[in-house]
Amino acid sequence: MTQTSAPDLHTPLQFIKGVGPHRAGQLERKGLRTVEDALHFVPLRHEDRTRLTPFRSLVPGVAATCSGVVVGVSPPPPGRSRLPFTVMLRDPSGYATASWFGWRYLARVLKRGQRLVLHGRVARYKGVTVLQQPDYEIVENDEDERLHTGRLVPVYSLTEGLPQRALRSLMWRLVDTFASTLPEVLPDGVRQRRGLVGLAQAIREAHFPETDDALAAARHRIAFDEGLLLQLGLAILRSRVARARGVAMNPRGDLVARLRAALPWKLTGAQERVWDEIRRDMAAPYPMHRLLQGDVGSGKTIVAALAVLTAVESGHQAAVMAPTEILAEQHFMTFRQLLEPLGVPVTLLTSSLKPRERAVRRAALAGGEIGCAVGTHALVQEAVEFRRLGLVVVDEQHRFGVEQRARLRGKGEHPDLLVMTATPIPRTLALTIYGDLDVSVLDELPPGRRPVVTVARLESKRRAIYKFLREQVAGGRQIYVVYPLVEESEALDLKAATDMARHLADEVFPDLTVGLLHGRLGFEDKDAIMRRFKAGEVHVLVSTTVIEVGIDVPNASVMLIEHAERFGLSQLHQLRGRVGRGEWKSYCILLTAGRLGEEAQGRIDAMTATNDGFKIAEADLELRGPGEFFGTRQSGLPEFRVVDLLRHASLLEDARRDASAIVARDPELSDPAHRPLRQALLTRWRGKLALATAG
Ligand code: ADP
Ligand code: MG
Repeated sequence: MTQTSAPDLHTPLQFIKGVGPHRAGQLERKGLRTVEDALHFVPLRHEDRTRLTPFRSLVPGVAATCSGVVVGVSPPPPGRSRLPFTVMLRDPSGYATASWFGWRYLARVLKRGQRLVLHGRVARYKGVTVLQQPDYEIVENDEDERLHTGRLVPVYSLTEGLPQRALRSLMWRLVDTFASTLPEVLPDGVRQRRGLVGLAQAIREAHFPETDDALAAARHRIAFDEGLLLQLGLAILRSRVARARGVAMNPRGDLVARLRAALPWKLTGAQERVWDEIRRDMAAPYPMHRLLQGDVGSGKTIVAALAVLTAVESGHQAAVMAPTEILAEQHFMTFRQLLEPLGVPVTLLTSSLKPRERAVRRAALAGGEIGCAVGTHALVQEAVEFRRLGLVVVDEQHRFGVEQRARLRGKGEHPDLLVMTATPIPRTLALTIYGDLDVSVLDELPPGRRPVVTVARLESKRRAIYKFLREQVAGGRQIYVVYPLVEESEALDLKAATDMARHLADEVFPDLTVGLLHGRLGFEDKDAIMRRFKAGEVHVLVSTTVIEVGIDVPNASVMLIEHAERFGLSQLHQLRGRVGRGEWKSYCILLTAGRLGEEAQGRIDAMTATNDGFKIAEADLELRGPGEFFGTRQSGLPEFRVVDLLRHASLLEDARRDASAIVARDPELSDPAHRPLRQALLTRWRGKLALATAG
């Protein structure tokens, strides 16, 4: 393939002068294929090289940018490669040393007489000023200097073999040649109202700004675009749902009344409010599209059951989808218990069913004999048919993507959709990220819940912990002991849990009953153990994370988590939510091996600091960053480069308002004035947002 016409924004980078197939391959790894991609690849940060710090003024403990000539190079002696590689530098004010660990190839690259620009943290070591592990660049000539020094210099995210300077030089050329040809995507009104700089200028200044202010304005503009494109996409999805004709389900409510009468307690105020919101949605002639957020134990299941009964009573079927087989099985048990006494048949559909049994259950669904199907993603498979699917409930929403949700909905005539999550997030964020959903919040726990006392303990306290467990059991309580189990080391983890169960049963608590529960057990075995635990026949239940969600044994008062550092924060919070459900004081003990990494320690600290799921979610978001937290990759949402979901909350709110206004007037962006915006939207959502035919 060759490129003959003059290069433009759509030209593959490979055909830009100075970029060969090799370099193009490296750029592709960063997701950069065309000139336009590259222009939107904004730097990670900028270094202020207008103000180089003279060596004499370096202050230990502070990061600095400086420049000097290499006057001496000392690699570690042979065989001592764990010592740092050091370089002596001089500038007009004096001398400094730079050192790097584990950078053996530096010996080949750095030479006496070279001029370097360095950026790093300063330390004092044995009377010498040392730049530790600095980023460095070799300055080649004067022309080079203007781009790489003496200004706010962009620093890009790199990939192996792609040097910072080469990328920066390429960016300089691309920005210089093409930035001015970028079409403006924002409607004028929006740009003026929000006081945003033009796109071409924003891109130019985001890469090579003249001043800090210009950089800030440029990044603000780009962040706004990211926010707007996200919100527009969500607003379009939402408006399509609102325009679709759904089923109005407004039965007399006999089944709901019977279930409510059978419950041993009353719904909380929050449950009543949320149920009312859901009931209205279901009664309306357009499809419900609602997110139900509620902390662990806030009682989402019963609300979902009321919705299921409403669908059934109006002659429809309901599907309840869970992200894992175990959770699906647990929901199945719960729903069966709640619904079957009312004459509503419930079935379970997972991929581990024997083909014959699966066929039978599918047929029953297709024939309409089954009112409620609980299952995993097996429910969205092609062959599963419903006779009259009216309601879809999705549990643990954050683990499913936009696409899976859409597929399940596609199985009926625009069935109502209720998604539930126990990973609550701040309301503004919920609107941002689930902007295609209405949001209900269960912000009240059932009465009598007590905060769980949470402590972190080291291995050395194990005996004291066992003594405490024994006291609890003597007082009539029950105990969970949880082991981590991850796919990569499943066999080992399973063995650890099994060994521990045996050790506890034979040596520590020979007089008590110890049970073992893990995902490899068949449904019947799991069910049997859970029943025995519920009945109080098992005192200590050793388990892998299968009990993470949904298990409910109010008499259990201690959750002991082994290797707590290996669990994610929301998992830990879920596990803790298994206790504190009865009238007894409850405990969560986080057992860790010893010194932890910063992030792991952060998780443990968050757990001991608060019982509030919203605060936990915020800490999680802070620790992991929004990308991982929301799994934007799997979820099918566009990724952010500049937007920070926490810091840009008000910008996102503005973007959301503007997006709603645009979509209200032009639902599929077919107005020619919206053409550039439409184009940007399609690019950013990568085909996940098929818009109506081009206008
Ligand atoms: P989650 O929101 O975590 O899914 P569940 O639906 O599992 O929570 O409910 C947790 C426990 O609280 C269950 O045992 C449930 O029966 C109980 N529960 C739910 N609502 C109430 C209520 N209003 N009063 C008392 N207990 C309730
Ligand atoms: Mg639940």
